[in-house]
Amino acid sequence: MIETNSSLKAFNTFSIDARTKTLFHFKDLKQLPELLALLKTVRAEKRPVLILGAGSNILFCEDFSGLVIKVELSGVEIIESQDNYLLQVAAGENWHQLVTDCIEKGIDGLENLALIPGVVGAAPVQNIGAYGTEFKDFCQAVEYVDLNTGEFFNLNAPQCLFAYRDSIFKSKGMQNALITKVTLKLPKKRQTHSRYGLLQKLDAAEKVTAKQIYHSVCQIRSEKLPDPDLLGNAGSFFKNPVVNKQQADDLLDLYPDMPNYPQADGNIKLAAGWLIEQANLKGKKLGGAAVHQQQALVLINQKNATAADIIQLAELVRATVEDKFNVSLEHEVRFIDSKGETNLKQVIKHVRA
Ligand SMILES: Cc1cc2nc3c(=O)[nH]c(=O)nc-3n(C[C@H](O)[C@H](O)[C@H](O)COP(=O)(O)OP(=O)(O)OC[C@H]3O[C@@H](n4cnc5c(N)ncnc54)[C@H](O)[C@@H]3O)c2cc1C
Repeated sequence: MIETNSSLKAFNTFSIDARTKTLFHFKDLKQLPELLALLKTVRAEKRPVLILGAGSNILFCEDFSGLVIKVELSGVEIIESQDNYLLQVAAGENWHQLVTDCIEKGIDGLENLALIPGVVGAAPVQNIGAYGTEFKDFCQAVEYVDLNTGEFFNLNAPQCLFAYRDSIFKSKGMQNALITKVTLKLPKKRQTHSRYGLLQKLDAAEKVTAKQIYHSVCQIRSEKLPDPDLLGNAGSFFKNPVVNKQQADDLLDLYPDMPNYPQADGNIKLAAGWLIEQANLKGKKLGGAAVHQQQALVLINQKNATAADIIQLAELVRATVEDKFNVSLEHEVRFIDSKGETNLKQVIKHVRA
């Protein structure tokens, strides 16, 4: 179904009232010829294209001048073998619903990733992660269609080049790759993973089940994170920064309580939320936007915020943390302007002009 001049307010969790010139609801692979024909016209007019899931990791900085393809493909197939479950899941399925359905069916493994908003097709893009596990831990394959040619491809997990909040799907060469399906492999014999953050409390129990972890994750996340249906937000706004050992040691001399996580390559990961909190930015307001009072890593649309309010607040946070700690924060949320993906540095110039 094709719409013109449509509001995207319901399709992004910040609830920014941006519009798109053209919107295509991609519900069935049978629509592919129609989509490819539409893309031909859009490209001939030199207009941009954006693939959209549930809009929970996106900030629309202004109206979009091109075509938004909203991925709504549905279907889940479960194949059971002696040792594993293989799940073939269409890209438009809701991620949390998938996790919940698995837990209810006694298929364990995804419990640490409960309550992450968004659809399944977006999960490989930034290799979603929480509570010590990541999408890549379960990924068997990702299927995508090349929007230039209509050809289908399958990548196995190593080919997806997964890293912290990153994958091949974020690279320039893959801008035309629309993920249609993912295959997840969930071994029947797998240790639950509860030695991370607040989940450690569960370790006191004799045998921690996947169901217990699922419920704890849901409870902790509901207490800690604002519900986008009630308070617009896109989860963690910034990535946790990684610094070299010398810089981490210098900071630890000044701030001995600073959380720090040594990485395999010798660098040290810091907690962006802690840095923002120490910079006294919790609760900071700018226009209708604010830094969340309970979780400093989350910027919220508190009261009819415009994209400009959120952009200026993000820049204030970035600059204040840099001044205080000499640490650069990179945004995890993807910025989209009228022509496609951009970044904070570019849009702040535009907002200030
Ligand atoms: C309250 C809250 C909590 C969150 N917690 C976490 C967390 O714990 N861990 C975490 O990793 N993330 C977290 N996020 C971020 C977000 O949920 C994930 O990034 C999620 O995978 C985004 O899914 P989406 O469908 O909303 O994608 P969108 O925001 O619609 O898109 C994200 C990116 O993926 C691309 N994309 C989407 N679908 C496809 C497709 N089919 N093919 C190709 N590209 C596609 C888009 O072009 C865009 O670049 C949180 C967000 C919120 C609001």
